[in-house]
Amino acid sequence: MRDEKALETLTQLLGVGGFEKEVRQWIEKEAAPYADEMATDAMGNLIVLKKGTKGPSAKKLMFIAHMDEIGFMVKKIEEDGRLRVCNMGWNWAGSAYNSRVRFRNGIHGVVGCVGWIEDAKNDVGKLFIDIGAISKKDAEKYVKLGDVCGYWGPYIELTNDRICAKTLDDRIGCYQLLMALKENDGTYPNDIYYVFGVQEELGCRGSGPAAERIRPDIGIAVDVTPAHDYPCDLEGSNCVDGGIGIKICDPSVVSDEGVVEAMIECCEKNAIPYQREVIDKGGTDSSSMNVSCMGVKTGGIVVVTRYPHCQSAVASKKDIEAGVDLITAFSKYQFE
Ligand SMILES: [Zn+2]
Repeated sequence: MRDEKALETLTQLLGVGGFEKEVRQWIEKEAAPYADEMATDAMGNLIVLKKGTKGPSAKKLMFIAHMDEIGFMVKKIEEDGRLRVCNMGWNWAGSAYNSRVRFRNGIHGVVGCVGWIEDAKNDVGKLFIDIGAISKKDAEKYVKLGDVCGYWGPYIELTNDRICAKTLDDRIGCYQLLMALKENDGTYPNDIYYVFGVQEELGCRGSGPAAERIRPDIGIAVDVTPAHDYPCDLEGSNCVDGGIGIKICDPSVVSDEGVVEAMIECCEKNAIPYQREVIDKGGTDSSSMNVSCMGVKTGGIVVVTRYPHCQSAVASKKDIEAGVDLITAFSKYQFE
């Protein structure tokens, strides 16, 4: 990998939707030496511009990876010190159950359930967080209503160059954009906007406003996508180690045909392994970019992950690196 330590560090940061500051500050520091211009908008999107060689006639390419992760927000503190929570993004009650979480002030907790997890029927309202507090008064010393927590757990290596970590969705994308920015030497024809977005998990809220500001010719969401190559509740053709995913369609967007063709050309010319991605559940920031401005041509570059939206997502280093290769190749593409 180009810089595995950077990916590991990114996965260990905490940035639940609307509270991405810790992630943004780290990326800002890393990106600053390579940026021509850098700005954070009112929502918290970090926009990094690396200019191309064509001046005012350059095409504007916007890549966006979201900094936010799924998590929970405290909505009630019970008399016995348990924290009742609501979803910040889509958590499966079953995979959240018995997971460890961390609050922004460093307090840790474990996710419990008021009865059989099977009876929770995926209702996060049936879950609670145990921070070790012995009463409501005690718990209030550590947390207050509106505090957010995300999953906690180390970054580990599995066999066959596969990794497991929390928040691979979408710190993989943040890592890929950062690596692509670092290798952009300013000789590309296109102006490249590397955007580290907010609140994707809350309904793709950050990417539309970021696109309005940039007014890109093409917008690309750089994200993860669920795998279909193991027994699970989804069906499709996405494979871990199948190469970088080129988004064709999901329920929220249809990629621009020309963008897909250009991506495939980039992969074939540069021997980058790729797979065509079609999913019938989920979506990415492509959707809101697509319908922003007067309409934007969009596409997606996605890494196939197993066990998404839990503390132990799994992905392949080879797919991740192929994604950086594709972002770089596409950034240099000569558009008509
Ligand atoms: Zn995502």
